[in-house]
Amino acid sequence: MRSPTPQVVRDPSLPEAVTIWEVGPRDGLQNESVTVPLEVKAELVGRLVASGLPVVEATSFVHPRWVPQLADAAELVARLAADGLLAGETPLPVLVPNERGLDRALRAGVTHVAVFLSATETFARRNLNRGLDEQYAMADPVVTRAKAAGLHVRAYLSMCFGDPWEGDVPVDQVVTAGRRLLAMGADQLSLGDTIGVGTVGHVSALLRAFAEGGTAPGELAMHFHDTYSQALANTVAAMHAGVTTFDASAGGLGGCPYAHSATGNLATEDLVWLLDGLGVHTGVDLAAVVDTSSWLAGHLGRPSPSRVVRALAD
Ligand code: MG
Repeated sequence: MRSPTPQVVRDPSLPEAVTIWEVGPRDGLQNESVTVPLEVKAELVGRLVASGLPVVEATSFVHPRWVPQLADAAELVARLAADGLLAGETPLPVLVPNERGLDRALRAGVTHVAVFLSATETFARRNLNRGLDEQYAMADPVVTRAKAAGLHVRAYLSMCFGDPWEGDVPVDQVVTAGRRLLAMGADQLSLGDTIGVGTVGHVSALLRAFAEGGTAPGELAMHFHDTYSQALANTVAAMHAGVTTFDASAGGLGGCPYAHSATGNLATEDLVWLLDGLGVHTGVDLAAVVDTSSWLAGHLGRPSPSRVVRALAD
């Protein structure tokens, strides 16, 4: 029997290619209860690069007190440099929460960094221990210095479609916050549906509002969570709005820290299956990512929540 693949039927109204921004080693592992050893992390990044993913976000230079799962960030980056991956063709971005994190990233020789902010006041206070204005004050010198050092800077904006404490998040509030980050000098803005509550009409409305505000879709990435099985539909809606960069996590690593659900980050494999079927080029070898997720599941002691991984794994 042949290994199943979707029959390819192009939709000419969709982009010919998209970039999958793999976040499993950072956003995934930081939310797993099991901390995997350095060797496993290094092999994970290497395998994801080898499977054709064009960007693999490697780790976070956050204080180990907040994210003990990534306490070995500096050692991991040194290891990736020794393996020849850090200077390779595939960018390996690192999250930097503040200037101290940026200093560590610069010393480590990374070329791509990401900052992380909230679209809502409550999440800014709970997650970053800062109000909205204070988070911009913290991010501004990080972005400015990183750009001056020649780095690529991505800005994550979380809680763009709903907040577990505040509920609905107004579209205008997200556009204002996002445009402020782009105005700071960020190269790309990743809009996060952190609790996975976004639906198709909401995605279209938010992207329309960004376009009306003067933001080109090429400046945006979408970070969908699949908590309520909406991530793929939302992806199609965003592609129709011209977005061509999508975040995903191999095997759906990470769960959802705010919904007590096993399903959080959109699984890379589910996204690749969709895009393969639509004839949208990604450069990603689906079977290789499935192999990697199955291998990693053994280290995490839990099966992948991805339907595609479950269907295709041996
Ligand atoms: Mg996420």
